[in-house]
Amino acid sequence: VAVFDCAVWRPIGVHQGGTLGSIGALLHQQDGSGSLFGWFSNPASEVSAHFWIGYRGEVEQYVDTSVVAWHAMHLNDTYVGVETEGYPGEPLTDAQVAGFGRVMAEGARRHGWPLVLADRDGQPGLGYHRMQGGVNTACPSDLRLSRRPDILAAAQGAPPAWPSPERLGQMGITRPGGGYWLTDEDGGVYAYDGAPFHGSLPSMSAIPIGRVIGGAPSPTGDGYWLVTDCARVYAFGDAAYLGPHPDWLARWGIGTDTNPVVGIVGRGDGTYVLAALGDGLNPDRYAMEADGRYAAEP
Ligand SMILES: [Zn+2]
Repeated sequence: VAVFDCAVWRPIGVHQGGTLGSIGALLHQQDGSGSLFGWFSNPASEVSAHFWIGYRGEVEQYVDTSVVAWHAMHLNDTYVGVETEGYPGEPLTDAQVAGFGRVMAEGARRHGWPLVLADRDGQPGLGYHRMQGGVNTACPSDLRLSRRPDILAAAQGAPPAWPSPERLGQMGITRPGGGYWLTDEDGGVYAYDGAPFHGSLPSMSAIPIGRVIGGAPSPTGDGYWLVTDCARVYAFGDAAYLGPHPDWLARWGIGTDTNPVVGIVGRGDGTYVLAALGDGLNPDRYAMEADGRYAAEP
């Protein structure tokens, strides 16, 4: 589930469907005030958006960003929809600009959105409902549209949204050459201090088998592995996928409730080792190699 850490998750359960591989976000104006949760939940409305940003900068999320919402007709298959509280004659508040900036910053990390203006259908970045090739509508007003550069500036300077503690996996992956990544149990990856984003499970609309509990960098720092307690490894960037083989897991009972994987360590030569806890494993911490040899070592 691609739920943003900068938002309050209020799933509506209707008016959505299909997989969304988004290239950016669209600015909308609400033409009203107050949370849109009730209206979008109403079967009669037949509309939705992924996010709503209130006057005070509060962000609500109604639809998973890897799922299509109903906010801009043919643009629904390409962009995430962001509603902003207020009326056409009102400018976005500074708090709304900051809130939108947090959404864009998190979208850049999770989905790879570039922090640039999009002015016609198909361009990645921050677009708007009535942009060229978009929808024939008055949404949004020129007054609201004028703050888009400020939203991008806020996104560039936005303090990173931290994964909530209950969803945070291994605290971090230190990157050789500088920077680091944080992961969450859905396979979200958060890049900091210059570490490059090389993708995540939510950015591929993928759901991990098990909970992501750790990760390790590739030797170059231009990629990383994520691992789940069920012993599934996901490789990104120049990190190579090397197993483990399911037969081997079954033989040792690794990745089960009693023998969960608890970590992954890169060995510096492009291979990696998984560590599992276990009943019947001696000693109780067990390391296994996943470089093709599948040797077990205590
Ligand atoms: Zn609109």
